Amino acid sequence: MRSAVITGPGQVEIRQEPYPVPGDDQVIVDVAMCGVCTFERRLFSGDKAWYPVSAGHEAAGVVVAAGARVKGLAGSPRVGDRVTLDLLTRCLTCRPCRRGRTALCSYPQGRALADGTFSFGGFTETIAIDARSVYPVGDTPMVHAAMGEPIACCVHSLRRSGFRSGDRVAIIGGGVMGRLHLALTRVGGASSVGVVDPSGERRDEAAVAGADWVATPEEASAMGGTQDVVFVAAMGGVDLAVRLADVGGTVVLYSSFDPQLRVSIGADRCHRQEISIVGAYNQEPEDWRNTSTLLRSGLIAADLDRLVTARYPFSKVGDALSHVTSEPTYRVFVERDEA
Ligand SMILES: [Zn+2]
Ligand SMILES: [Zn+2]
Repeated sequence: MRSAVITGPGQVEIRQEPYPVPGDDQVIVDVAMCGVCTFERRLFSGDKAWYPVSAGHEAAGVVVAAGARVKGLAGSPRVGDRVTLDLLTRCLTCRPCRRGRTALCSYPQGRALADGTFSFGGFTETIAIDARSVYPVGDTPMVHAAMGEPIACCVHSLRRSGFRSGDRVAIIGGGVMGRLHLALTRVGGASSVGVVDPSGERRDEAAVAGADWVATPEEASAMGGTQDVVFVAAMGGVDLAVRLADVGGTVVLYSSFDPQLRVSIGADRCHRQEISIVGAYNQEPEDWRNTSTLLRSGLIAADLDRLVTARYPFSKVGDALSHVTSEPTYRVFVERDEA
């Protein structure tokens, strides 16, 4: 059984690891596919110097064994099920977890390889994982199931926003997260969804993917006060988002931002217009249930297909990481191969 470890900027090493044994409440999953996200890109580029680490947090696979207490338990995943994996470890003990806000769990997240190297679990061939963190997806293609984590984050974002069918939606940022927000708000019955991005290519692709309108940030700033929900899925555009919100509107700060960046809104406008500014971070079990149902429905399958930039075999994980650090991509995937 192999795991890929990022050992420094531009460096990845494939290690042999012992085959995992399931705990009583766990299942063993053969990981079939794992997406490469911004986090992995930043590790490999050296932007985030945290080494060594076995990354990969957007994974899907097949259950191959079940622990004693969950084997045959009604509702629990069964051997042979195709599943998407919630790789957050959610302690259920810290203060946010006790409030049900497990997206904000303050307990150290993750797993460890045999020598103690920190592991998220996605860049590994076989993983032992709590059965409750594994969500069956029916016959969903693995490449879609591997988008379970980013979809669940966006489902969480919609839930935080209070989005309802009939709402007018603007999304700032036409990257993979912006596009998932587009897919979810469209199937959720938005009356219109627009995508704002400085890149002409991304605007064109968002239009093909079903955006009702697309705009450059300059064009969008002339549309002040017209949107019920504005999602910021880019590293900037926060002032624009606040400007776009109509009375009663919500701005969701979905992306990560420069710690120095501030949100500015007149206190009186916020009061009189009941503008909400909310953050969205990670996902919770409710979001995963919703996500696995959505994946099984196939409703956003075409949207997901459009976000697949490239697929690399596990043995070439370094090439996948080089790809995402060398050019803009939607999602690049690492898929199981035979060693
Ligand atoms: Zn991610
Ligand atoms: Zn916790």
